Amino acid sequence: MIQTDIIIIGAGPVGLFTVFEAGLLKLRCHLIDSLPQPGGQCSEIYPKKPIYDIPGFPSVLAGDLIDNLMEQAAPFKPGFTLGEAAMTIDKTDDDKFIVTTVKGTKHEAPIVMIAGGLGVFEPRKPPIDNIDSYEDKGVEYIIKDPEFYRGKRVVIAGGGDSALDWSIFLAEKNIAKEVVLVHRSSSFRGHLDSVQKVIDMAGDGRITLVTEAEVTGITGDGKVDGVVITHQKDGEFVRETDHFIPLFGLKPSLGPIADWGLEIDKNAIKVDTLDYSTNIPGIYAIGDVNTYENKLKLILCGFHEGTLAVQSAFARIYPDKKNILKYTTVNGVNGF
Ligand SMILES: Cc1cc2nc3c(=O)[nH]c(=O)nc-3n(C[C@H](O)[C@H](O)[C@H](O)COP(=O)(O)OP(=O)(O)OC[C@H]3O[C@@H](n4cnc5c(N)ncnc54)[C@H](O)[C@@H]3O)c2cc1C
Repeated sequence: MIQTDIIIIGAGPVGLFTVFEAGLLKLRCHLIDSLPQPGGQCSEIYPKKPIYDIPGFPSVLAGDLIDNLMEQAAPFKPGFTLGEAAMTIDKTDDDKFIVTTVKGTKHEAPIVMIAGGLGVFEPRKPPIDNIDSYEDKGVEYIIKDPEFYRGKRVVIAGGGDSALDWSIFLAEKNIAKEVVLVHRSSSFRGHLDSVQKVIDMAGDGRITLVTEAEVTGITGDGKVDGVVITHQKDGEFVRETDHFIPLFGLKPSLGPIADWGLEIDKNAIKVDTLDYSTNIPGIYAIGDVNTYENKLKLILCGFHEGTLAVQSAFARIYPDKKNILKYTTVNGVNGF
């Protein structure tokens, strides 16, 4: 059982900055995220895009903002449970919460801050009837550790940056024994230099490029041993492989949190703007996941919400202690 003062569900920019604000009040945080890395939408969707409306940064790449937030939170030693979605929440007899993840990891704290953004990112799956039965048996939708594919044959499907970049990486570093990239069109959506690199590597025979084609079936008894590729002109053929990795992007959904008894309005959690508390005392919702009149889904608004929410959390944990606002310029940042 992981014990802390505040369980933060969602390690996006808002969850990460909340660790800092909580730390100034001497409150410890543990973050849970279903993605394998921190950063939420900034890391998963647009790490290389510049953001122009973070106060004090005329321009900052989304990925760099996350690196900075991690550095800013570091003195307060946050704990992380990554790659695991928070599934259930239970109340203990002493007024604490236990949050359990999909892998059964349990976390206990008197306060839960939901910073779940747009929710759990679920992979967009290709419409192949029996694909579910091959998941984790040769079908993966996210590449968590490229070493997993060392010496293996892989078929990647997709036409965006993720499909292009991973094909290049697995072939260029000689990790996979064989890389086949299947895309239904002859043009790609990814960065031009990545597209050119894939074409060059296909020319050198380091990647097998199959365009105007789709993976329409999977073969194998209990685990993947091949895929059926349907080419728009040449018809169907089977390609032997150890792994099939469709990289068609991730779609968000509020997921398990929707069943926790919280007041929900249009896929977002209703909060009181006094302190961003929900209808369940001790549970707060901050950032993109919440809703209230005039809500703006902006990072800077989430930073403000997290800052006020931890003040309220402090008062809830220590009802007899008075908290006086201290400037960091005066007090510095005294980590744990
Ligand atoms: C292309 C694009 C450009 C943008 N540009 C700007 C901009 O210029 N300026 C700006 O201010 N904003 C911008 N935004 C919006 C900004 O990214 C969001 O407002 C911000 O990411 C919200 O942060 P968050 O921490 O609330 O949520 P998120 O970044 O969505 O992070 C939430 C995290 O919670 C996790 N999670 C959810 N449910 C669970 C669960 N049950 N268990 C475990 N983990 C869970 C998710 O995996 C995710 O990592 C942009 C968004 C996009 C898509």
